[in-house]
Amino acid sequence: MLGKLRQNYKAEKLMSNKNLPFTFEEILNIAEQFGTPFHIYDEAAIRANAHRLIKAFAWNSGFKQYFAVKATPNPTIMEILKEEGFGMDCSSLPELLLSEQIGVTDEHIMFTSNDTPVEEFVKARELGAVINIDDITHIDFLEQSAGLPELVCCRYNPGQLKDGNAIIGNPEDAKYGFTRKQLSEGYHRLKEKGVRRFGLHTMVASNELNPQYFVETAEILFNTVVELARELDITFEFVNIGGGIGIPYRPEESAVDLEQVAEGVERAYQQRLIGEGHPALKLFMECGRMVTGPYGYLVTRVRHIKETYKRFAGLDACMADLMRPALYGAYHHISVPGKTKLPAETRYDVTGSLCENNDKFAIDRMLPELEPGDLLVIHDAGAHGHAMGFQYNGKLRSAELLFKPDRSVEMIRRAESVEDYFATLNF
Ligand SMILES: *Cc1c(COP(=O)(O)O)cnc(C)c1O
Repeated sequence: MLGKLRQNYKAEKLMSNKNLPFTFEEILNIAEQFGTPFHIYDEAAIRANAHRLIKAFAWNSGFKQYFAVKATPNPTIMEILKEEGFGMDCSSLPELLLSEQIGVTDEHIMFTSNDTPVEEFVKARELGAVINIDDITHIDFLEQSAGLPELVCCRYNPGQLKDGNAIIGNPEDAKYGFTRKQLSEGYHRLKEKGVRRFGLHTMVASNELNPQYFVETAEILFNTVVELARELDITFEFVNIGGGIGIPYRPEESAVDLEQVAEGVERAYQQRLIGEGHPALKLFMECGRMVTGPYGYLVTRVRHIKETYKRFAGLDACMADLMRPALYGAYHHISVPGKTKLPAETRYDVTGSLCENNDKFAIDRMLPELEPGDLLVIHDAGAHGHAMGFQYNGKLRSAELLFKPDRSVEMIRRAESVEDYFATLNF
């Protein structure tokens, strides 16, 4: 009974609040100064969350979280995370160059790529990054193109696990990673080639809200490490449990309890790894979404209200600024800062101006009655938001702003201009 009560209390506490970090006054001023639309990131909240993640895993003395750069590839955000102790998880040449530019090199970079071109392996080697190999054929490819580093990690795709891990979904269809058999063969070959330092990685889910999922992923990796160590007489230096921690996009969803995940992983570490005689190893993660997602907002104005068979609120932002609703049918909460006290009794499709009918941030969303000029804030746009932008239909990507702990605002990426759009053309 008490346990249940406590659980309810905890769930309530964790239930995502969709409050805004800035006052209506503040966001009005920011919108006036910089013009809409823009993405704005809450630095204090990003730092607090990063700190919390690292603290939760402090039981592991080698713990490192590598920020998945693709989530928010902005050097100012990356520098903030570097200051909080994060490394960078890169998967392309430009992401490697971004990391280099903010002074993150060597084993503070995890290079997790697939279908990798030669020049990316060469750059990753030059920077001294930890190289996470996606396929068994890449062992020879890496050796011939850039040379094998002393530390190598292989990416595991657990496929259809014997004990039917329902929540892993269907990794067999995923293009990533080695099969279990290929892992044995791969590490054996690496050992023969003189590699002495080893890591093991997997990443098989995305936007997962069940804390137990991450514990089970860690269990699979610890078990596999113990098997491989015995089979090949090697020891592992780290295990990378990947990213994929989800965020509560919907108000009724709860955030993943990081402390609960960390405790569960520690228990598995003690039982499955240390208890089985493998020496201590470092635990790595490479989260993106949960690091910045809830702390970034797309701020936009209503441009037109249109009434036909439905009621439409047309914004000055479009799917080029935030693709997730169009791409995945994803829910993003919408606040109307000046109208928070008014009843949400009017039904809208909230649209952009792109000539695609799926350019809608929300369908049949109940909102306060809107009029042209109203400011709207679209929540949880801080990861895989601006980053997924594109220029289809001549839509230009918006600016990125940083809302600092002292409540001042800095532009950390300007909006694209028509000149940027023409820059690649040969006029
Ligand atoms: C995308 C990606 C991540 C980050 O995923 P999130 O869902 O943003 O945490 C981590 N690692 C790899 C290899 C990825 O491709």
